[in-house]
Amino acid sequence: MDKQNFYQEKYEYYRTLNLWAVFGISIPSIGYFFSDCYLLGGFSTETLISRSAIIIPFLIYLILNKYTKDYRIMVPMSYAIGHSVMWCTIWACTYLDDLSFACVGFFIILFIFMAFGIAAPLPYEVIGHGLLFVDIAIANTFLHYPDYVMMFLLGIPLYIGICVFDVAMEKTYRDQVALKLKLEDHLRHDALTGAYNRNVFESLVGENHTFICAKGEYMAIAMYDLDKFKRINDMYGHSAGDEALVAVSEAVRSRLCEDEILVRWGGEEFIVIMKQNERRFEEHAQEIREAVEQLQLETGTVTISVGVAECSKENYQETIKHADTALYRAKNMGRNRVVMYCSEMDSADNGYCG
Ligand code: GH3
Ligand code: MG
Ligand code: MG
Repeated sequence: MDKQNFYQEKYEYYRTLNLWAVFGISIPSIGYFFSDCYLLGGFSTETLISRSAIIIPFLIYLILNKYTKDYRIMVPMSYAIGHSVMWCTIWACTYLDDLSFACVGFFIILFIFMAFGIAAPLPYEVIGHGLLFVDIAIANTFLHYPDYVMMFLLGIPLYIGICVFDVAMEKTYRDQVALKLKLEDHLRHDALTGAYNRNVFESLVGENHTFICAKGEYMAIAMYDLDKFKRINDMYGHSAGDEALVAVSEAVRSRLCEDEILVRWGGEEFIVIMKQNERRFEEHAQEIREAVEQLQLETGTVTISVGVAECSKENYQETIKHADTALYRAKNMGRNRVVMYCSEMDSADNGYCG
């Protein structure tokens, strides 16, 4: 997964949390109006207006959030809301004579900014949080904070701690994604042979359960089954049988083209979804069968019978049924061979098509 996708997925995972963090930082900040009243000794319309002004950027955020999930827009937007809270506070402070609590207020804002970092990439976080010190420096030019130096001295270690916390949160998320991908991989692949599991077959075919071919591309299902495999298990044991299954799967895979897929259909029965630019499925299936026949295993040679059916627009289960019919015919004809499906097979008892 590249960096951009990782951060996009991370943002989407934490999107709801981010929305609540934006809400939790912006709207309750209007409540500082009460501490303003306490400091001023009465109701203050000016600070109520300045504190309430946060509603405008918050609404802009909500509208944007409705239309885009792009972290490159929404993460900076979240920080913009945080900085808007800062500037609404600075605006309110212009009406206050006593700024001795500004230092505490700054730490509170710096601390709750931590919530934005959870959904953000590290560089956004470092800049987004760090700009709070720029806000303070600019505001100080006209507010002249009594604790200006202390704001920096106490704020910088807090800022570093917050960045470290957000890095730790990202690591936790990264570990969780790695675990999720591993589980998905186990779900999709057969542990013994590495072939796809049958339960993901539907996701490999297109919508409406039909195979999708690109222009000029043909698809076929080759269903193969190991011949007299039970005998290998009975004579050499189950683990030798397992080794034979793995060796056969590797031999088959070595003959597949890039887009072709091997699926374990059940037991010692597999399906190859073949894709070709020209219809040479039978030759291709023969190459696969020969590759298996040439294997030198401790259990001796092992062979497969293959039934091939070309995919048409019908439901994919129909094609699989056809491949199965052809495979059944291959078994009946003596095994270790490839049989192409044709519609006559559905009625005829034996023999070739046409
Ligand atoms: P045929 O040529 O008619 O296919 O004969 P066969 O002996 O291969 O067919 P049968 O269906 O009688 O036996 C299939 C055997 O495959 C039975 C089962 O124990 C074995 N088998 C299925 N899955 C596995 C597996 O994962 N490992 C091992 N070792 N054996 C397996
Ligand atoms: Mg078999
Ligand atoms: Mg079988």
